[in-house]
Amino acid sequence: MNLLNLAILSYALAYTPEELSNFAQQSEFDTYDGIHVRYFGNSSEESRKIQDYIDHANDVFWAFTGYDHSELCKSQDVDVLDITLEEINNRSSMRWVSWHIFSHKVYGLYRPTYAYRERAEIFISHDVTISEKQRAYLVAHELSHYWQDMLCRDQSEDDADAFGRWFMHLSDD
Ligand SMILES: [Zn+2]
Repeated sequence: MNLLNLAILSYALAYTPEELSNFAQQSEFDTYDGIHVRYFGNSSEESRKIQDYIDHANDVFWAFTGYDHSELCKSQDVDVLDITLEEINNRSSMRWVSWHIFSHKVYGLYRPTYAYRERAEIFISHDVTISEKQRAYLVAHELSHYWQDMLCRDQSEDDADAFGRWFMHLSDD
């Protein structure tokens, strides 16, 4: 199979957000640098909270991390999919994930952009066992991966974790 066929096959296998979950809430907004965000979730209250986390995390990311805005190599819009813990760990619907690298459940995921996809994807999960603080952490952690992608850098788990923890403490009060 040549590369072109592979790309077409990947495109055909891509799902629409609606196929992943029953989203009762969908909203759209612009955040840092005019980036367009589509949020797929379950309530307008959660939608507002996640939008606040995203706006705040984007501002502090550029103000306080060592990453340099002038080094951005691309600008892509992003979908945020707020799904259940069970859905995010469903290996048959989340076929694109390299599951062999995870020995535990996942709570958030970042799906990088490729030539055939115009939008990046951030997955965050919700469950009775996930606190609001942990949700703030997940948003910041996955946003950090998004910016690493937009900077054409290697994905750094350490940086994403450090930023997530820091943002979670900022959002404490
Ligand atoms: Zn990560």
